[in-house]
Amino acid sequence: MAPIGIRSRAVEPDSSRIRLGPLEKIYLIWMVGGSCDGCTVSVTAATHPRVEHLLAGIVPGLPRVELIHTVVSTEVGPEWTHNLFMAERGELDAPYVITWEGSIMDESIAGDGYWMGLGEDPQTGRQITSLEWLDRLAPGSAAVIAIGTCASWGGIPGSKGNVTNSMAVMDYLGKDFRSSFGVPVVNVPGCAPVGDNYIETAAAVCLFLNGLAPLPEFDELGRPAWLFGETVHRHCPRAGYYEEGVFAREYGDKECLVELGCWGPVVQCNIAERGNVDGHGGCMQMGGICIGCTMPGFPDKFSPIGEIAPGSLISSTTSRAVGGFIRRMRYLSRVDKNMTVRWEKDSPSAWSRGKTGPRGAVKVVHKVYSKYQHSHEGGNDKFHGETHEGRGRNRFEAGHNW
Ligand code: SF4
Ligand code: SF4
Repeated sequence: MAPIGIRSRAVEPDSSRIRLGPLEKIYLIWMVGGSCDGCTVSVTAATHPRVEHLLAGIVPGLPRVELIHTVVSTEVGPEWTHNLFMAERGELDAPYVITWEGSIMDESIAGDGYWMGLGEDPQTGRQITSLEWLDRLAPGSAAVIAIGTCASWGGIPGSKGNVTNSMAVMDYLGKDFRSSFGVPVVNVPGCAPVGDNYIETAAAVCLFLNGLAPLPEFDELGRPAWLFGETVHRHCPRAGYYEEGVFAREYGDKECLVELGCWGPVVQCNIAERGNVDGHGGCMQMGGICIGCTMPGFPDKFSPIGEIAPGSLISSTTSRAVGGFIRRMRYLSRVDKNMTVRWEKDSPSAWSRGKTGPRGAVKVVHKVYSKYQHSHEGGNDKFHGETHEGRGRNRFEAGHNW
């Protein structure tokens, strides 16, 4: 379908009105398209810094934030839209940043109605759409931040079969869009996003606008590079299980979830390391698979959700074979390291159970390993004054947990 919009009233950027810091305050105009308000909920739970800290202006280096939000502002109706008219006329006493939540819906196919309304024209009573406000305000803004996967990529409203021709903010504004400060559209994806990811990004942009830091680094898709450069898998608390080839059979198991349909090995998201709220929670921490919600291909390219990804069978089978061997070798070492030297030479403590010394291949493995470990000392375990052969008993217990 063709691009959408009403660009006739777009305002040309007036960079003479705005300069890089120092700023006492900055306006944050939060507008909503095709959205569930989940992004708003996420951001209110952010802690580094908290929204309240930005509003109070107590974060060093950051201007105080005046929030003009569709849900949490106390003004309603004409009092609320008054702020937007002032921004359009350049009458606000500080620069403004737009944050857009939700996908951009095609108003040209809405017939006599509209998808996303946001106030009325005070003279004519005509409904103004959210999209029209974006047309009016984006060129004069200091920055446009798309929050959530719907705003960043189109998200669920933009998935196959959508009747609203939904798309991303950057699809709508175009790849050449730059704010009046020269900032391209910034994308903070996630469904819902980690609230701290948004706040941290907004704070980094504000530091730039305040003249105290360079423009943050964004990747080729406009994501904050320091937040979305790694895959979920690399920081997943279950990654050790994957490496050792141990996989969950059903939800509730503690092992790696890849065979239940986890896409973590290919998905760029930092929730595994950052947590969801104040360092707590997160998908794998709570037992859930990664469904790729931060990615441009979500949800279509990750469907049907819950089915094993085609490529992961190859890697999990390999991991099962190689990791299974390594896991057994580690077990041998672990049993050895779980013993004091005293226990090996003398009687075990009260906590020890009856054990037998290593036999057969295991005994050979230990002997070779010990020789190698102490090879710089001549091949003997001189620290303990004996070789492994002399340690005798208490090495292995029956009924072990591989
Ligand atoms: S649960 Fe997913 S992200 Fe975590 S280790 Fe397994 S495949 Fe990787
Ligand atoms: S781990 Fe996957 S499902 Fe969870 S937030 Fe990140 S991208 Fe979304």
